[in-house]
Amino acid sequence: MRITPDKMYKLDGKICFICGKYLLNNTHADLAYVPVHTGESIRAKPDKYYIFECPNCNMMAHKRCWYDVGEKRVRGGFLNLFTKGWKLSCPNCGHVIAPLRENRTDWAKGYQIPGHPDEDLYELQTGDVVAYKAGSLFGKVGAAINGFFKAVGLGSLSSSETSAVTRAANRIGKTIKDVAERVFRLEIPTEKRSEIKQLRCQNCGASLPMPGRFEEAVVCEHCGTAHLLPT
Ligand SMILES: [Zn+2]
Ligand SMILES: [Zn+2]
Ligand SMILES: [Zn+2]
Repeated sequence: MRITPDKMYKLDGKICFICGKYLLNNTHADLAYVPVHTGESIRAKPDKYYIFECPNCNMMAHKRCWYDVGEKRVRGGFLNLFTKGWKLSCPNCGHVIAPLRENRTDWAKGYQIPGHPDEDLYELQTGDVVAYKAGSLFGKVGAAINGFFKAVGLGSLSSSETSAVTRAANRIGKTIKDVAERVFRLEIPTEKRSEIKQLRCQNCGASLPMPGRFEEAVVCEHCGTAHLLPT
């Protein structure tokens, strides 16, 4: 089931119980492949990843985390050649999702959780997640948006970024000396910037003055934390 951006708030701030990261964040390794009988390796289009909920304890995790951690190789001894293979169980409650079987399909060959094909899982298209995170800047900043703000040191900024921060500080009657050492850089595509209608300070939560279209930085009047925006 595809989770569209309007439903995504239900997953916002929730954590994968296996890797401990936000369910709304993913790595390249999470991206899904299509199962093809010819054995080729074909990435699903558009880019997407899946979340699977344990049918017994209802804990949620990235499908890739189930594959990497839930799937355990069972080694048969000399006299038990037939007990070799793979077994999938829940790392939280121990519930056996797939009993011992001889082989496990490789991830890049379109691995499916036995008995729970991709169609039955929560599908997250990465484009939808980006749209949701950009949209969640309207009003509230969801927990997952933190994945888009990267904290950097003031000293690491380029000279043009430093002058943008200086100008932003001047606009609110401060100087660069008043700007906090930790600066937040918003990492979203430039074209998404126009969708931002309201920003909150990543340090203190105060609402930030909206910078003009060509302004690269905004400084929090309350705590002096600078935020860099894509231009
Ligand atoms: Zn995970
Ligand atoms: Zn479980
Ligand atoms: Zn602040």
